[in-house]
Amino acid sequence: MSYRSLSEATLNGKRVLVRLDLNVPIDNGAITDATRIERVIPTLRTLLEKGARVIILSHFGRPKGRDESQSLRPVAIALAKHVGQEILFVTDCRGTEAVQATNAMKDGDIIMLENTRFYKEEEANDPTFVKELASLADVYVNDAFSCAHRAHASTEGLAHHLPAYAGLAMEAELQALSIALEKPTRQVAAIVGGAKVSTKLELLGNLINKVDVLMIGGGMANTFLAAQGLSVGASLHEKDLLVTAQKIMSDAQKAGCEIILPQDGVVTKTFAAQAPHRVSNLKDIEPDEMILDIGPKTISHIEGKLKTIKTLVWNGPFGAFELKPFDEGTNRVAAAAAALTQAKALTSVAGGGDTVAALNQAGASDAFTYVSTAGGAFLEWLEGKTLPGVAALMMNNAQQQARA
Ligand code: AMP
Repeated sequence: MSYRSLSEATLNGKRVLVRLDLNVPIDNGAITDATRIERVIPTLRTLLEKGARVIILSHFGRPKGRDESQSLRPVAIALAKHVGQEILFVTDCRGTEAVQATNAMKDGDIIMLENTRFYKEEEANDPTFVKELASLADVYVNDAFSCAHRAHASTEGLAHHLPAYAGLAMEAELQALSIALEKPTRQVAAIVGGAKVSTKLELLGNLINKVDVLMIGGGMANTFLAAQGLSVGASLHEKDLLVTAQKIMSDAQKAGCEIILPQDGVVTKTFAAQAPHRVSNLKDIEPDEMILDIGPKTISHIEGKLKTIKTLVWNGPFGAFELKPFDEGTNRVAAAAAALTQAKALTSVAGGGDTVAALNQAGASDAFTYVSTAGGAFLEWLEGKTLPGVAALMMNNAQQQARA
């Protein structure tokens, strides 16, 4: 099953409800990171070039009902500057004001409706609310991949009521993910790092059946090392998951997936930047020491292994990368993956949680094939789950084709 792309749509004179993720970080009224705004500009420009009347929908924050401190108005002002065009801000996403404003639009106009989460019906995917939103437009475009793991009115429900298309950012994201895990060039490897096994059980379970090599790092690697009978001292690890870690390792073996664990570590007695530290092999870790990064032997092994890999999926840092020098392992492996990608020897896709920050800090993001800022949606996709927002676009396409 597939979805329809915005590039296929004829939109002249049509009112288009476009769902964006404009949930940008704001501090004292100022937007501190405009990445999400920048990413939606190509879709908005394409809509305008096609002569559409553009009606923007987004959530913002987690308001419990109407809450002016979580209004999208400052985002509308910032977005207008980026698009270079006036955006009319409507203080409601339903009701008379929204109806009048959308009816009065001319081709090429843009309006932004107020935060969809001012209504609990948004997250409940309430059918009456969905119909009200749908009545404002002729076409629906979803360009919010980062919200596609939620079956909300504006992310899923609308695709059941209007002809639906994937926006350009959504399409780029889905293509990158498909290249990485659905139709990858082999060998495929995954790097899974970060703090805990418990938050990534489903992800590990899915990946061992999809990838040829699984490299495990970060705090979660300690649980695997402990499961192998090694003493990890004061390192972060989950004692109640040792059996689970053993099962993941035996399932991986059955599935033909090679698991690479650290062979050495950088250890310290204090969880702090610039704390006194030493490189240790895994048999000599003292009870009061904790592993905060992979050691040089592990880094060399992974760098060598990456040269045999054609496709890489990366989620989670190799160490406590926020604290120097425990960012070394993440930085070195990121630099190796970036160089191989630049040399066209590797396709590299990364995302989820702290991964974007870690790769930015390593200066590697720009060289990667694709870095997803989608967080939860990226992780659910790595877990092999169907994303309701994407499934609804596909279902809409299948229905339109059946009708044609
Ligand atoms: P996650 O959100 O699961 O990807 O975890 C990211 C967090 O894991 C970061 O804040 C890292 O500092 C932390 N982390 C990575 N390796 C370790 C480690 N060896 N010990 C403690 N925390 C770690």
